[in-house]
Amino acid sequence: MPRLTPFDVGEEKIDYDKLMREFGTQPISQVAKLPSAPAFKRGIVFSHRDFDKFLTAARTGKKVSILTGFNASGSIHLGHKQTFDTVIALQKELNVPVYIPITDDEAYVTGKIDSLEEGLKNARLIAAQMIALGFDMSKTRIFIHQLYPQIYNLGVKLSKKCTLSEIKAIYGFTDSTNAGLMFYPCMQAADIILPQDLLGKHIVLVPIGIDQDPHVRLARDLADRSGYVKPAAIHFKYFSGMSGGPKMSKSKPGSTIFLDEDPDKAAKYCMSAFTGGRATVEEQKRLGGEPDKCVVFEYLGAHFMDDKELKELESKCRGGKIMCGECKKLLASRCKQFLIDFQAKVKKAEKEVDKYLLK
Ligand code: SF4
Repeated sequence: MPRLTPFDVGEEKIDYDKLMREFGTQPISQVAKLPSAPAFKRGIVFSHRDFDKFLTAARTGKKVSILTGFNASGSIHLGHKQTFDTVIALQKELNVPVYIPITDDEAYVTGKIDSLEEGLKNARLIAAQMIALGFDMSKTRIFIHQLYPQIYNLGVKLSKKCTLSEIKAIYGFTDSTNAGLMFYPCMQAADIILPQDLLGKHIVLVPIGIDQDPHVRLARDLADRSGYVKPAAIHFKYFSGMSGGPKMSKSKPGSTIFLDEDPDKAAKYCMSAFTGGRATVEEQKRLGGEPDKCVVFEYLGAHFMDDKELKELESKCRGGKIMCGECKKLLASRCKQFLIDFQAKVKKAEKEVDKYLLK
């Protein structure tokens, strides 16, 4: 399997068991009394580091927090929303503070955007989107790197505890990697450790895609070397792109649905999503569809259906009682309505961003 890092996600199908073995993480199924969020029941969260310790601490009244960041290269999309919905459910169930770093500087050093100004503009949109997603803002704080320079002090402190060769080995950087990117892992570690500087030592949970795990590994080592508690992590499987692969990007229109997308365009993208349908209607009626291969089913389940409705759809699909065209129309109409409502909430939230920023 090729190297999987936060900066290099391939198009290949991911072997999650192999990744767990390679990264040394534990299967989530071994954790007792998992939270009730759908991502745990449906196997979307598949692996962890010290999540059992985090849960025990949270459930016995000890101080804990959750850190869920975002790179300011552009709007949030439906794949990210699934992670944030899970964090919101965890926040509600466990009553914990949440910190959201928005890394506008990272978007710049990785070359995803052309200027720091663009990063800041994106960061403010993302902050409004986060508020609109439904975090409990009485317990949530957002920090945008360019507006919260204190984060650099912690990054610099941590940078003294790791070497260039360590960074190169973890991230696969070479001598031609730019110096900003080379330093950036220390900033990521600073984000993860910051809640301990603000609230005192405690376990910070970091919910992430598995490709982001190198950040957690480094942060755990640096926390240990610097007298902090090692952070915990839960790992999400990739959310499929509309055409079935793991790769989604602003530069590929229709590869997923971005939350700032025009609702009519988004509905059109839904109508061309990859399905688990058979070659002909006759075959589909006889053999049924294959929901586990179907992006429409995945998107409906993750965002637009509860467990009961999803189970009914699965049984109709497998029994050949529903055709893919009908499903796609349902996804298109629910997605369109969601975007109309969500974008109205974002407009309102844009006026409130400053109230929730760490300064
Ligand atoms: Fe997917 Fe629906 Fe087709 Fe089944 S019928 S494969 S759920 S689109």
